[in-house]
Amino acid sequence: MHDDIAGIAAARAEVRARIDAAARSAGRDPAAVTLVAVSKMQPDARVDAMLDAGQTVFGENRVQEAQARWSERRDGRAPELRLIGPLQSKKAEDAAAFFDVVETLDRPKLARALAEAGARLGRLPRLYVQVNTGEEPQKAGVAPGDADAFLREIRDGFGLPVEGLMCIPPAEEEPAPHFALLAKIAARNGLAALSMGMSGDYEAAVRYGATSVRVGSALFGARG
Ligand SMILES: *Cc1c(COP(=O)(O)O)cnc(C)c1O
Repeated sequence: MHDDIAGIAAARAEVRARIDAAARSAGRDPAAVTLVAVSKMQPDARVDAMLDAGQTVFGENRVQEAQARWSERRDGRAPELRLIGPLQSKKAEDAAAFFDVVETLDRPKLARALAEAGARLGRLPRLYVQVNTGEEPQKAGVAPGDADAFLREIRDGFGLPVEGLMCIPPAEEEPAPHFALLAKIAARNGLAALSMGMSGDYEAAVRYGATSVRVGSALFGARG
């Protein structure tokens, strides 16, 4: 889609304008919605163009891919980096050292590994709990019915602060009920941050209260 690198800045401006319009139509402040540019599997040239366009928050799916891409590119610009893909417990320390935000906390073993890594490193990323709103067996995330207990466990048992919730609705379903469910679980647990919405549904997510949307292909073009 964007063989033309200049097109990246235009795509970003359009996505941002759509986010702002969706927020205003829902009576929300557009500034309360963060655009996370999902750069996984994108050529470096497109990512550099996105940085040049002024984008400051990026999402990556894998720890090693993110380290390879961002270790040097990060110097001087300090974009915020978010891990939005599944995290193995054995990579928890690498992730805690590298990312500003981990959005895929979904099991006690990983909570323990992150808490231990945080103690060793003296730093922790901001944390989101992933909820498997569609209860899909192949998908990561805590089941909606287990979310309250899991949030209590990671706060009280592991002493981990949680910033918000994240979900990836089933690909074949209307996403709105999933966004509404995530918002409801967050509200009853006193959490204000909601990471939901991707290229195909970010405007709907904003109407349902998303505070960050994770957009890849609509910004960068198809992944290579
Ligand atoms: C890849 C990915 C995205 C971005 O998907 P697009 O459809 O390209 O916008 C968002 N969230 C997660 C968790 C992803 O893995």
